[in-house]
Amino acid sequence: MTGPATPSSARCPICGKPSEPRLRPFCSRRCADVDLNRWLGEVYVVPGDDPAAAAGSGLPEDDADF
Ligand SMILES: [Zn+2]
Repeated sequence: MTGPATPSSARCPICGKPSEPRLRPFCSRRCADVDLNRWLGEVYVVPGDDPAAAAGSGLPEDDADF
């Protein structure tokens, strides 16, 4: 038996340390938060260049005339 050996293929994408089985693919919760913040940050950073898309309604107001 080799015991609980950590697979060399699994590494934390944030810091590169061997990932924790519980927190795969991250090595720690901190790194997981970092990755999460990166995703959320990118979403927030994206500017609303298209106000029509922000409205979410694909129907034009002119349709009310019908
Ligand atoms: Zn890490």
